[in-house]
Amino acid sequence: MRHIATDALVLHLFDYRETSRIVRLVTRDAGVVSVVARGARRPRNQFGAALDLFASGVAHIRMHPTRDLHALNGFEAAGSRPELGESLDRFAAASVISELCLRFGRESETGSLYATAIESLDAVVMAAPDRAVAAGLASAWRLVAEFGFAPALDQCAVCHGALAGEVMFHHRAGGALCESCARQARGGRRLPAEARATLGSWIAGSDIDVDSASVRAHMRLLREFLEEHLSDGRPLRAFAAWEQRQGGRSMAEAAP
Ligand SMILES: [Zn+2]
Repeated sequence: MRHIATDALVLHLFDYRETSRIVRLVTRDAGVVSVVARGARRPRNQFGAALDLFASGVAHIRMHPTRDLHALNGFEAAGSRPELGESLDRFAAASVISELCLRFGRESETGSLYATAIESLDAVVMAAPDRAVAAGLASAWRLVAEFGFAPALDQCAVCHGALAGEVMFHHRAGGALCESCARQARGGRRLPAEARATLGSWIAGSDIDVDSASVRAHMRLLREFLEEHLSDGRPLRAFAAWEQRQGGRSMAEAAP
């Protein structure tokens, strides 16, 4: 058994047996891990109230050598993020960030996923509720890049030729295509110059806002890209709820 103490962020918790909880963490030193917090549901326990959704701190973990479920021995909270529970817009965006990390993150020791996850949630915390969607989209694309699937935006995904203005975005090819490659590739979506610039800014770390019509187009583009490159066939429930919520809002805005 190896014991580690590592910076960690709580992405998901659920009750386990009579008195315990299973907690899914993204950690700096071990990537995404599942741990059992024994006794965490007892009134007085060593975890206290600190072990809460989207809280970060130092996790003391006993790593099991052969199983995927490790043991949490302690959690010293350094920060909670109550703002994420105070607005449905923020909570929906945070849930998508969590879902992407849990679904596509792995046990690893690079620490970069942990850093991106913390930055992402903090960007949503800092965003005004009506800008949480844009912060969530920006974060989701940064996570996609973190997983190794950054789309080609400045050069053609196939021939690396220069791009200008509106282009075709082809999911399978991995991003934007020049005119001649677009003619040969089937399918794809038109990506206006502004949307391409926005995507580039998001991946580079800026959370620039977009209007609600563009938000829906961006959500669709992101969903299709995830389905093409990352999906294991299981539905992304938080993402679906997020997209549905945005769709409902656009209709309400369009109503007289
Ligand atoms: Zn090309």
